[in-house]
Amino acid sequence: MKIAVLPGDGIGPEIVAQAVKLLEVLRADGAKIEMETAPIGGAGYDAAGDPLPEATLKLAREADTVLLGAVGGPQYDTLDRPLRPERGLLRIRKELNLFANLRPALLYPELAGASSLKPEVVSGLDLMIVRELTGDVYFGQPRGIEVRNGERVGFNTMLYSESEVRRVAHVAFGIAMKRGRKLCSVEKANVLECSELWKEVMIEVSKDYPEVALSHMYVDNAAMQLIRAPKQFDTIVTGNIFGDILSDAASMLSGSIGMLPSASLDEHNKGMYEPIHGSAPDIAGKNLANPLATILSVAMMYRYTFADLATADRIENAVKKVIAQGLRTGDIWTEGTQKVSCSAMGDAVVKAL
Ligand code: NAD
Repeated sequence: MKIAVLPGDGIGPEIVAQAVKLLEVLRADGAKIEMETAPIGGAGYDAAGDPLPEATLKLAREADTVLLGAVGGPQYDTLDRPLRPERGLLRIRKELNLFANLRPALLYPELAGASSLKPEVVSGLDLMIVRELTGDVYFGQPRGIEVRNGERVGFNTMLYSESEVRRVAHVAFGIAMKRGRKLCSVEKANVLECSELWKEVMIEVSKDYPEVALSHMYVDNAAMQLIRAPKQFDTIVTGNIFGDILSDAASMLSGSIGMLPSASLDEHNKGMYEPIHGSAPDIAGKNLANPLATILSVAMMYRYTFADLATADRIENAVKKVIAQGLRTGDIWTEGTQKVSCSAMGDAVVKAL
C-alpha cells in the first residue's frame, strides 16, 4: 500500500511526523506500506508556485491513499485566490473525486469535561456522520443573483441525481456494517422533492444491506436530537448542506478539535485522511500541537481503505490507553493530568501500540 504523505503548513509537519512514526512501527511489524512525502498548500506554493503542485497531484493519484496534515498560514493570506493554500485542498478533493466525507464524533469518557454538554449526555459518544461532498445546493445549476420584477433575487438549486445518492448510500451502509449496523438518513422530505428522492433511493439501497437498520429523520429534528441525546445515533448519512451544518455541531460534542479525524472517500474507498482542524499558526513550530486527530486519521485509513479492522482497533486502543494514562497536550489538559508535548504524545501512542 502506497501512502502519499502531505504534511502541509503550520503544525501539519509536526502532527504528521507523529503519524509517520506510528506507520513506521507498523511497517517494522510487517505491514506492507510505502510512504512518499510531497508539499501541498503554502508549502506547495513555496516549492513550486502552486498550492497543489503537479507532482503532488500525480503522487496522490498513484498512491492507494493520502495522509494530509493541514494547510494555510497568515503569510499566504495576501496571495491571489487561486494560489492560496486552501485552494490546493479543495482541488485535490475534487481531482480525486472524494464524494463521501466521514466525520466521526467520538468522546473518550476521560475527556467528557472538555465538552460543552453535560458529561452524562456525551460520555462514551461514538457517532459517524457521512456527508455527501460534491453535490446538492452547493453545486446545483442554475445559481446566481439577478434582477426580476425590478428587484434582485438570489437563487440556488438543490439537486441530487439518483446515482449521486446511490453511491453515497452504499458508502454509508458499508460503514454502518462495520459499526453498529444502524443508519439514520437525514433529509427534509416533508417539504423538499430533492429529499423525497434521496429518501426513496436510501430505501432502495437498504435492500442490499438487510443487516443494517435504516431509519429516517428530518434535519430540524436531527439538529435537536444531536444536542439532546447524541448517543442514540450510530451512523448518519445526509446531503452536502445538511451534513455541513450537522457535522460542525457534532464536532463540538467531543471537546477539542485536536481529537477529531476525518476521511474523504471516492467510489473505490481510496481516501484522503486528515484531522478536521487547520494549521494552527499560533502554536506552529513549538511542539505543542495535539497529534491524536492525525493518528486517529491513520486508524480510519486502516479501517476504510485498507479494510484492516484489527490494526484500526489497535491504533484506537493505543490512543485510549494514553488518554487513560492521563497524558494530555495543552488543548485537552485539565488539573491533575500530565501535560506533554506533541512528540511525547506521539511516542506514548507508539509505546502503547
Ligand atoms: P485552526 O483549526 O488552525 O485553529 C483553531 C484553534 O484551535 C487555534 O487556537 C489552534 O491553536 C487550535 N488547534 C487546532 N488544531 C490543534 C491541535 N492539533 N492541537 C492543539 N490545538 C489545536 O483554525 P484557524 O485558526 O481558523 O485557521 C488557521 C489556518 O488553518 C488558516 O490558514 C485556515 O485557512 C487553515 N485551515 C485549514 C484547514 C485544513 O487544512 N483542513 C482547516 C481549517 C482551517
